[in-house]
Amino acid sequence: MTESEESSEGTLKAGILAIGDEVLDGLVLDTNSNWIEIHLASLGVEMNRLVSVRDNLVEIGRALKFLMETCDLVITSGGLGPTHDDMTLKAVAQAFNRNLVEDQEALSMVERQYRDLYERRIVNNPEIIESRRKMARIPEGSAALNNTVGGAPGVMLEIDNVTIFCLPGVPSELKMIFEGSIVPWIQKKGTSEFYERIVEFKMRDESVFAPIIDIVMKMHPGVYIKSMPRTYGTSHVLKVWVSSRGSDKETITRIVDSAIRSICHETGLEAESER
Ligand code: ATP
Ligand code: MG
Repeated sequence: MTESEESSEGTLKAGILAIGDEVLDGLVLDTNSNWIEIHLASLGVEMNRLVSVRDNLVEIGRALKFLMETCDLVITSGGLGPTHDDMTLKAVAQAFNRNLVEDQEALSMVERQYRDLYERRIVNNPEIIESRRKMARIPEGSAALNNTVGGAPGVMLEIDNVTIFCLPGVPSELKMIFEGSIVPWIQKKGTSEFYERIVEFKMRDESVFAPIIDIVMKMHPGVYIKSMPRTYGTSHVLKVWVSSRGSDKETITRIVDSAIRSICHETGLEAESER
């Protein structure tokens, strides 16, 4: 074991694979990787490797194997969509000799999303045509991850003690699945102390709050913050989870409390305990 591996023993190590021609052609800035890095750091996960490849079956497979050499979890971004150039799952299946199989849970997620997109007049019909059905075909032995923002479910599978999460490239979808499926997985995995406070702020517009979360998370390395708007009758509140993980309960309690004070300072609002 090398010195750097030894020093961070016990810490989850992560790798990211940003997939997409548009990223490598310089047309899209890879903000997904940066967002994931910030959030992993706050969860006490150490980023080990970051790779970016084109939409190419062989390149995706080789990159995955490279990341899996030293990482406990690998997160891929992009290439889950309905078009032929979205080939992440095919590449995963091919690289690890698995079949792509239609998954009932994934299919019902795709059906639900297209019904919703149709009702909101974003698509012209809700039918599960072949290109949409493709998003429900996932590598054998993997689990579909709920995506309530777009059409393609995320995918989770374990190969050789490494957990691989495949997320869509669209940032809002990627963030939703990360918060909904990856964060709880990481929090359950951790063996260290965990401290969380749930507070509420009287606030209507979550978009105002989003940049403040980023600022406060950067000010308090090791603190994880997520928020969700809620309505009580006619009043709008933002429910905010602030948590930290570490070996010393007192330290993590202190930084969580300090982060909540910073949110109050940045927003000019008072934090109320959850009802
Ligand atoms: P879709 O279902 O929309 O096709 P997908 O999983 O196939 O989703 P991509 O086709 O790879 O995702 O990317 C969709 C869009 O998401 C891209 O056009 C780009 O705008 C954005 N995107 C992709 N990768 C990244 C990235 N690494 N960072 C930021 N944005 C990205
Ligand atoms: Mg796509």
